[in-house]
Order: sequence, then structure tokens, then C-alpha cells
Amino acid sequence: MRAHEAGALHGNDIAPTWLPYPQDVNALLPGLWSQTTARGADGALEVGGVSALRIAEEVGTPAFVLDEDDMRTRALRFREAFTEAFRPLSGADIYYAGKSFLCVAVARWMEEDGLGLDVCTGGELAVALRAGFPPERLALHGNNKSDAEIRRALEAGVGRIVIDSLEEIDQLARLARESGARPAVMLRITTGVEAHTHEFIATSHEDQKFGISLASGDALEALRRVLAQEDALELLGLHSHIGSQIFDTGGFEVAARRILGLVAQVRDELGATITHLDLGGGFGVMYNTQHTPQTPEALATGISTIIEKGCLDLEIEIPRVAFEPGRAIAGPSTQTLYTVGTVKDVQLGGQQHRLYVAVDGGMSDNIRTALYDADYSTLLASRVSDAQPQVVRVVGKHCESGDIIVKDEYLPGDVGRGDLISVPVTGAYCYSLASNYNHVPRPPVVAVKDGRITTLLRRETEEDLLGLDAG
Ligand SMILES: *Cc1c(COP(=O)(O)O)cnc(C)c1O
Repeated sequence: MRAHEAGALHGNDIAPTWLPYPQDVNALLPGLWSQTTARGADGALEVGGVSALRIAEEVGTPAFVLDEDDMRTRALRFREAFTEAFRPLSGADIYYAGKSFLCVAVARWMEEDGLGLDVCTGGELAVALRAGFPPERLALHGNNKSDAEIRRALEAGVGRIVIDSLEEIDQLARLARESGARPAVMLRITTGVEAHTHEFIATSHEDQKFGISLASGDALEALRRVLAQEDALELLGLHSHIGSQIFDTGGFEVAARRILGLVAQVRDELGATITHLDLGGGFGVMYNTQHTPQTPEALATGISTIIEKGCLDLEIEIPRVAFEPGRAIAGPSTQTLYTVGTVKDVQLGGQQHRLYVAVDGGMSDNIRTALYDADYSTLLASRVSDAQPQVVRVVGKHCESGDIIVKDEYLPGDVGRGDLISVPVTGAYCYSLASNYNHVPRPPVVAVKDGRITTLLRRETEEDLLGLDAG
């Protein structure tokens, strides 16, 4: 493979500035692929000791391919790093955020690896219960929980329920009295901190649906109301979640300081002790070279220092702290394998043209590009090629021009029908946001490990779809 200066030989400067011209278009970018992904002797991509060719042959495409060792290592690493860093304080717990990707097998892995599990609907709770997840290690979220969802959580003995509004306090207290349970509750507080990627904003108000506002005084009022109903509710602590795909601890620091300020206020004005904090999830992952995630160890050390210092400054007892990573555990473990169909070279005017590579899935299995303007990467998976790299756009098969999976990436210029390509870091918020748009059945999720393929979720069939149609 010859290396070129960006733009020197390919004469097609449509690549965004962050996307470097590849030294080797067949190489796996470090940090982007799950830990067991490599090129096999025949040049095909291999995960969990299984060739992409064999996966395509046995389960078809598109398919989500989950590297089991990778996901479990990430889960364990978060648990161990935070346990270690918070040991000198009052300890820490990791709850896997099930909304990023949940199925029975994943719930069992999280259970075995000592994590808790966050669920935010009756459906997610049902998966956890089906997996036999210990209810005391479950947390129930949701800004609009139904009576039925709350009853089910109370009946199951869910370990903590995160209250999201003033209204929910009375709803939960009423249902708790009815059921005879006394749930441990946390109050979700909005601190005015909103973080995305490399920036955060800190305001004194929030214009969004989640949580109970700190700045308006509602948060203190909510605590008063919970304490007034201590016959029905056990006040466990406070919760804050500031956003997603976050790379530094600055936003956590501002949010934590505001929450700890409330802890001190509760002690001084209401005479109550807050023993638990939950600082939510949101730790970022690498989708491409623009992203520079911190290790779990660095995050744990950074945040534990923030908590320790904040508590010292306010002279409050250090609470036990929970975190809820979803994307950082599920995301990088999984890649989506697609088969290439139509390839179209579209003239853009001047010397410029763009190679549109259409695959057999699309926005129904990965809506993040259309929804969040996400940037993904991709690699030729069925072979290596020494053709000159070209900027491609990977699109799906849906009737929508926004049906884009990878906006910009280099692939060998000879990519064509029948090739397999793989898109990394699709483990979080892809399957869980998947749809049946255009009556396209959802792909399967298969786990690969030690040369074995295990189906976690089978491919949907037309029969599954027609089964809903009353005719
Ligand atoms: C979405 C969410 C998470 C997980 O966020 P990630 O970005 O996947 O880590 C955790 N906690 C709450 C309350 C959430 O809404």
C-alpha cells in the first residue's frame, strides 16, 4: 500500500478535515475495534476467533456481532476501577444502563460480573426479571412511570426507584402503601449542567423534561415531601445525569458540587442525611479519530477526587456513589456486518465525486447518524485490497435520502457488490433504537467468543412482522 499526502493523489477533497487519508486502508484503527477483532490469514476480519465470512454465511447480514470478552472486560473494568478509587471514600457501585442494549444474556453477564442494572420501562424490567437479575441490584428510572410499571417494580422488590417529578412522589407513596412495600428512592435532580462530548454548559435552569429543578427550589421541596412520607418511602439519595458521550470530568465536577450543596442544605434545613449519590452515565467512546475517551481508571480517579474534595469543603459525610455507564460498556464491543449491494459514483461538480456504497441494512438498524449526526467508521471485512482508497458514504436500503450509516470514510476504491463491510462501535443505541421502517426485519445480535457464534437475539422474520397485522 502506497502512502499519500492527503489529497495529493486521489484528487477528491471531499473528506472532512478530521478524517486523515489512511496510511493503510486495510488496517484496523487502534482503539476503534473490539479487543478480539483482527485480520485473519486470508485478510478477512475476524472477531472472537470467528471469520466475518463465516458469520455472514451462518447468520446472514446485516448482523450485530458482539465480542463477548470485550463487553465483559469493559463492564468488569468499570466496576473494578470505581470500586478501587472509591474504596477510601464510601464505596461505589456500577449500574449498567440497560437502555443502551439489553437482552437476557447481557443482563446475566452484568449480574455475574457484579454490576447493578438500570431499567427505565416495564419492558426493560421484564428482560431483567426474565434473566433472574437480583431485584435489589435493579434501579428503575423513567420520567413518566405508569402505575402498572411501579406496581411491578414494587412487587419485584426493585432496589431503588429514581423519582423524576414532584407528582411522582405522591404516586409512588400511594402505590407503596397499597402494596405494603417501602421502596428506597432517589430523587433525580437537574443541576443546570448539560454535557456533550468536549463541551458542557452550566446554567441555573434547564429546559427539558427530566428531573426536579435545583435552581427553582423544587428539589428541596421534593426532599421535604419524601421525608414527610417516610412511612411509605425510604429516602436513599440524589441522582444526577448530565448527558452522554462526555470525555472529561468538568461537567461532572460542576454537577457534583451543586448536588453536594443540596446535600448540605438538606442536613442543615431538614436535618436529614443523604447517604447515596448517583451521578449517572454518559462516558464517551471512540467512534472515529475525533474522539479521545479516558480510561475507566482515569475517570474513577478524577471523579473520586472531585467527590472527596467537595465533601471536605462542605463538611459533609461522603456518600456512597453510583454510576450508570451504558455506551462505554456496550458500544465498542459490537460491530455491524453488512453486505454491499449497489455502488454508485455520484458526480458533485468540478473534479469531485462521491462513492455511495449501499448495504443491506440502514437507518432501521442504526438511526444514530440520521438522529444525532453521528460519525461512524467502516472497514472492508471480507478481504483486503490494494486499490487506492476513496472517500465513501455508506447508505442503507430505506426510502429516505437521510438513510446514511457512515457519512465519510475511506474504503478501497474497488469495493463492490458482494463485499462485506463492518461498522464498529454499534453496540449502544443501535439495536435498542432499531425499527421496522419499510418493513425491514430487525437483524440478529450474535455473540462471538473462542471460535463460537451464539445467537442472543434471532433475526426477525416477515412472519414476525405479519403476525402483528390483524388483516
Ligand atoms: C442514558 C442514561 C444513562 C446511560 O448513558 P450512556 O451515555 O449510555 O452512558 C445513564 N443514566 C441515565 C439516567 C440515562 O438516562
